[in-house]
Amino acid sequence: MIRDYGIINTKRGYEIIMRKAVYAGSFDPLSNGHIDIMERAAKLVDKLYVLVTVNIDKHSTFTIEERVNMIKKVVKADNIEVAWTDDLVVKFAEEQGATALIRGLRNIKDFESEIALYHFNRNIDNKIETIVLFPTYLYTYLSSSAIRELVYYNQDITPYVPDILKDEIIKGIKRSLKKA
Ligand code: ADP
Repeated sequence: MIRDYGIINTKRGYEIIMRKAVYAGSFDPLSNGHIDIMERAAKLVDKLYVLVTVNIDKHSTFTIEERVNMIKKVVKADNIEVAWTDDLVVKFAEEQGATALIRGLRNIKDFESEIALYHFNRNIDNKIETIVLFPTYLYTYLSSSAIRELVYYNQDITPYVPDILKDEIIKGIKRSLKKA
Protein backbone atom coordinates (compact mmCIF):
# COMPACT_ATOMS: atom_id res chain seq x y z
CA MET A 1 0.00 0.00 0.00
CA ILE A 2 1.30 3.45 -0.86
CA ARG A 3 0.91 5.80 2.08
CA ASP A 4 0.75 9.47 1.37
CA TYR A 5 0.57 10.63 4.97
CA GLY A 6 1.99 9.73 8.38
CA ILE A 7 5.60 8.82 9.12
CA ILE A 8 7.15 7.10 6.13
CA ASN A 9 10.52 5.52 5.58
CA THR A 10 12.19 6.91 2.48
CA LYS A 11 15.68 6.68 1.00
CA ARG A 12 16.42 9.92 2.82
CA GLY A 13 15.28 8.46 6.18
CA TYR A 14 12.02 8.97 8.05
CA GLU A 15 9.81 11.75 6.76
CA ILE A 16 6.58 13.14 8.14
CA ILE A 17 3.94 13.70 5.52
CA MET A 18 1.03 15.80 6.72
CA ARG A 19 -2.56 15.50 5.69
CA LYS A 20 -3.60 19.00 4.67
CA ALA A 21 -6.92 20.43 3.55
CA VAL A 22 -8.26 23.79 2.45
CA TYR A 23 -11.55 25.32 3.59
CA ALA A 24 -12.20 28.21 1.24
CA GLY A 25 -14.97 30.77 1.13
CA SER A 26 -15.76 34.42 0.92
CA PHE A 27 -16.56 34.67 4.67
CA ASP A 28 -18.21 38.01 4.02
CA PRO A 29 -18.76 38.11 6.95
CA LEU A 30 -17.67 35.09 8.98
CA SER A 31 -20.55 33.29 10.71
CA ASN A 32 -20.86 30.69 13.45
CA GLY A 33 -21.77 28.26 10.65
CA HIS A 34 -18.33 28.74 9.09
CA ILE A 35 -16.63 28.34 12.48
CA ASP A 36 -18.52 25.12 13.14
CA ILE A 37 -17.26 23.66 9.85
CA MET A 38 -13.66 24.82 10.27
CA GLU A 39 -13.33 23.50 13.82
CA ARG A 40 -14.72 20.12 12.87
CA ALA A 41 -12.58 19.94 9.70
CA ALA A 42 -9.44 20.78 11.70
CA LYS A 43 -9.96 17.55 13.67
CA LEU A 44 -9.85 15.49 10.47
CA VAL A 45 -6.49 16.70 9.17
CA ASP A 46 -3.02 17.62 10.40
CA LYS A 47 -3.29 21.09 8.94
CA LEU A 48 -6.24 23.13 7.73
CA TYR A 49 -5.91 26.27 5.63
CA VAL A 50 -8.87 28.59 5.97
CA LEU A 51 -8.70 30.47 2.72
CA VAL A 52 -10.41 33.78 2.03
CA THR A 53 -11.13 34.09 -1.66
CA VAL A 54 -11.71 37.02 -3.93
CA ASN A 55 -15.08 36.50 -5.56
CA ILE A 56 -14.88 37.86 -9.09
CA ASP A 57 -18.66 38.18 -9.48
CA LYS A 58 -19.48 39.66 -6.11
CA HIS A 59 -18.87 43.07 -4.61
CA SER A 60 -17.66 42.33 -1.09
CA THR A 61 -18.79 44.00 2.13
CA PHE A 62 -15.49 43.49 3.98
CA THR A 63 -12.01 43.81 2.54
CA ILE A 64 -9.83 40.71 2.26
CA GLU A 65 -7.69 42.00 5.12
CA GLU A 66 -10.71 42.55 7.38
CA ARG A 67 -12.00 39.05 6.66
CA VAL A 68 -8.62 37.42 7.30
CA ASN A 69 -8.27 39.34 10.58
CA MET A 70 -11.77 38.45 11.73
CA ILE A 71 -11.06 34.75 11.21
CA LYS A 72 -7.69 35.01 12.99
CA LYS A 73 -9.39 36.56 16.02
CA VAL A 74 -11.67 33.57 16.57
CA VAL A 75 -9.76 30.54 15.36
CA LYS A 76 -8.79 28.35 18.30
CA ALA A 77 -7.26 25.19 16.82
CA ASP A 78 -3.49 25.49 16.49
CA ASN A 79 -3.44 23.47 13.26
CA ILE A 80 -5.41 26.14 11.40
CA GLU A 81 -3.65 28.70 9.22
CA VAL A 82 -5.60 31.62 7.77
CA ALA A 83 -4.64 32.79 4.29
CA TRP A 84 -6.13 34.51 1.25
CA THR A 85 -5.82 34.14 -2.49
CA ASP A 86 -6.88 35.80 -5.70
CA ASP A 87 -6.04 32.62 -7.59
CA LEU A 88 -8.02 29.38 -7.97
CA VAL A 89 -8.54 27.47 -4.72
CA VAL A 90 -7.19 24.31 -6.37
CA LYS A 91 -3.97 26.11 -7.29
CA PHE A 92 -3.53 27.25 -3.70
CA ALA A 93 -4.15 23.66 -2.51
CA GLU A 94 -1.56 22.29 -4.95
CA GLU A 95 1.04 24.83 -3.81
CA GLN A 96 0.53 23.91 -0.16
CA GLY A 97 0.49 20.15 -0.82
CA ALA A 98 -3.13 19.89 0.37
CA THR A 99 -5.11 16.90 -0.86
CA ALA A 100 -8.64 17.87 0.09
CA LEU A 101 -11.07 20.75 -0.11
CA ILE A 102 -13.60 21.10 2.69
CA ARG A 103 -17.10 22.39 1.94
CA GLY A 104 -20.18 22.92 4.06
CA LEU A 105 -23.45 21.61 2.63
CA ARG A 106 -26.47 23.28 4.18
CA ASN A 107 -29.40 22.30 2.02
CA ILE A 108 -30.53 21.33 -1.47
CA LYS A 109 -29.72 24.78 -2.84
CA ASP A 110 -26.10 24.33 -1.77
CA PHE A 111 -26.07 20.85 -3.24
CA GLU A 112 -26.46 22.16 -6.78
CA SER A 113 -23.69 24.70 -6.53
CA GLU A 114 -21.40 22.42 -4.55
CA ILE A 115 -21.62 19.57 -7.05
CA ALA A 116 -20.88 22.01 -9.87
CA LEU A 117 -17.90 23.33 -7.94
CA TYR A 118 -16.70 19.79 -7.25
CA HIS A 119 -16.63 18.98 -10.98
CA PHE A 120 -15.07 22.34 -11.81
CA ASN A 121 -12.25 21.68 -9.33
CA ARG A 122 -11.85 18.04 -10.32
CA ASN A 123 -11.40 19.02 -13.96
CA ILE A 124 -8.45 21.13 -12.92
CA ASP A 125 -6.86 18.57 -10.57
CA ASN A 126 -8.45 15.17 -10.01
CA LYS A 127 -6.03 14.28 -7.23
CA ILE A 128 -7.65 16.78 -4.93
CA GLU A 129 -10.74 15.42 -3.19
CA THR A 130 -13.73 17.35 -1.89
CA ILE A 131 -14.97 16.56 1.61
CA VAL A 132 -18.45 17.77 2.47
CA LEU A 133 -19.55 18.40 6.05
CA PHE A 134 -23.13 19.07 7.13
CA PRO A 135 -23.69 21.98 9.49
CA THR A 136 -25.01 21.85 13.01
CA TYR A 137 -28.81 22.12 12.87
CA LEU A 138 -28.95 25.73 14.11
CA TYR A 139 -26.79 26.90 11.21
CA THR A 140 -28.47 24.98 8.40
CA TYR A 141 -30.12 28.10 6.99
CA LEU A 142 -27.48 30.60 8.01
CA SER A 143 -25.55 32.45 5.32
CA SER A 144 -23.42 35.57 5.13
CA SER A 145 -26.14 37.23 3.08
CA ALA A 146 -28.71 36.44 5.81
CA ILE A 147 -26.45 38.20 8.33
CA ARG A 148 -26.15 41.22 6.04
CA GLU A 149 -29.93 41.30 5.68
CA LEU A 150 -30.54 41.02 9.43
CA VAL A 151 -28.22 43.98 10.02
CA TYR A 152 -29.98 45.96 7.28
CA TYR A 153 -33.29 45.51 9.12
CA ASN A 154 -31.69 46.19 12.53
CA GLN A 155 -32.27 42.66 13.78
CA ASP A 156 -30.16 40.89 16.40
CA ILE A 157 -27.33 38.77 14.98
CA THR A 158 -26.05 37.52 18.37
CA PRO A 159 -26.87 33.82 17.75
CA TYR A 160 -25.08 33.78 14.40
CA VAL A 161 -21.70 35.48 14.82
CA PRO A 162 -18.92 35.27 17.42
CA ASP A 163 -19.47 37.78 20.27
CA ILE A 164 -16.09 39.42 19.81
CA LEU A 165 -16.84 40.19 16.15
CA LYS A 166 -20.44 41.31 16.49
CA ASP A 167 -19.85 45.08 16.67
CA GLU A 168 -17.24 45.01 13.90
CA ILE A 169 -19.60 43.05 11.65
CA ILE A 170 -22.54 45.40 12.26
CA LYS A 171 -20.32 48.45 11.67
CA GLY A 172 -18.84 47.02 8.45
CA ILE A 173 -22.23 46.10 7.01
CA LYS A 174 -23.70 49.53 7.84
CA ARG A 175 -20.65 51.18 6.25
CA SER A 176 -21.19 49.25 3.02
CA LEU A 177 -24.91 50.10 3.00
CA LYS A 178 -24.07 53.79 3.17
CA LYS A 179 -21.76 53.44 0.16
CA ALA A 180 -24.35 51.59 -1.92
P1 ADP B 1 -21.86 32.03 1.99
O1 ADP B 1 -22.65 31.07 1.14
O2 ADP B 1 -22.44 32.17 3.37
O3 ADP B 1 -21.50 33.33 1.32
P2 ADP B 1 -19.05 31.22 1.79
O4 ADP B 1 -18.75 31.43 0.37
O5 ADP B 1 -18.31 32.06 2.74
O6 ADP B 1 -20.55 31.29 2.22
O7 ADP B 1 -18.93 29.69 2.15
C1 ADP B 1 -17.80 28.92 2.30
C2 ADP B 1 -18.24 27.50 2.59
O8 ADP B 1 -18.89 27.47 3.85
C3 ADP B 1 -19.22 26.90 1.60
O9 ADP B 1 -18.94 25.52 1.46
C4 ADP B 1 -20.56 27.09 2.28
O10 ADP B 1 -21.50 26.12 1.87
C5 ADP B 1 -20.16 26.88 3.72
N1 ADP B 1 -21.08 27.51 4.65
C6 ADP B 1 -21.51 28.80 4.63
N2 ADP B 1 -22.37 29.03 5.65
C7 ADP B 1 -22.49 27.85 6.31
C8 ADP B 1 -23.26 27.40 7.43
N3 ADP B 1 -24.11 28.20 8.04
N4 ADP B 1 -23.11 26.13 7.83
C9 ADP B 1 -22.27 25.30 7.18
N5 ADP B 1 -21.54 25.63 6.10
C10 ADP B 1 -21.64 26.88 5.67
